[in-house]
Amino acid sequence: MVKVRRSFPAPESLAEEARKKTGRYDKPDVIERLKKDFHNKCYICEMKELQDPNVEHLLPHKNGKYPERKFDWENLFWSCAHCNSVKNNEKYDTGIIDCCKQDPEKCLNFRIESEDVEISVKNFEDELQRRTASLTEEVFSLKNTGMRTYTSDMRLKLLQKEMNVLYRQLEKIHNNPESKIAGRTIRSLLRRESAFAAFKRCYVREHAAEYPELQQYVEIES
Ligand SMILES: [Zn+2]
Repeated sequence: MVKVRRSFPAPESLAEEARKKTGRYDKPDVIERLKKDFHNKCYICEMKELQDPNVEHLLPHKNGKYPERKFDWENLFWSCAHCNSVKNNEKYDTGIIDCCKQDPEKCLNFRIESEDVEISVKNFEDELQRRTASLTEEVFSLKNTGMRTYTSDMRLKLLQKEMNVLYRQLEKIHNNPESKIAGRTIRSLLRRESAFAAFKRCYVREHAAEYPELQQYVEIES
């Protein structure tokens, strides 16, 4: 999860739909804007080019029990169906970090060690941080249904693949610090818009001694 810049004002249809008895929060203007603001990337697992995007409510509206949450632009997020369904659990009802307001990289470390995704929190007393870490781990590892065995594993494989691309490029720049192509590729891999950016950026930050010249591309927003 990385920081996302949400655009304002809110899509126009939201206010109109909120006045209707059976209004919708997924009119084309909302979908277009979320897709663009979130760079067509699931804000939870960071998979790109979603085939099954969902409009996710950071705080659940519980079938309209909380109508004020249903049409609130700042409560709408772009996620994949898998992450939306994993998050649809009581334990996440009180919310996770709002990546449009807070930089998740500031409070979480995103690591992958062979088959394990490990998200650690910087402040263990902070429940929001703990819930966000738990959810992020779950979307790569939860296998409590046949479908989730497949969808969690697929994300883990894509994450490993993307990390391997980064490792290869880092090796190239290590062997040849002057390589312009490797430099450009790494900068692009470290952009917040890219797939699984939080993991790649965390890796480079944690290897600052080896890659001091790359630290400027993985800075955390203050
Ligand atoms: Zn996802």
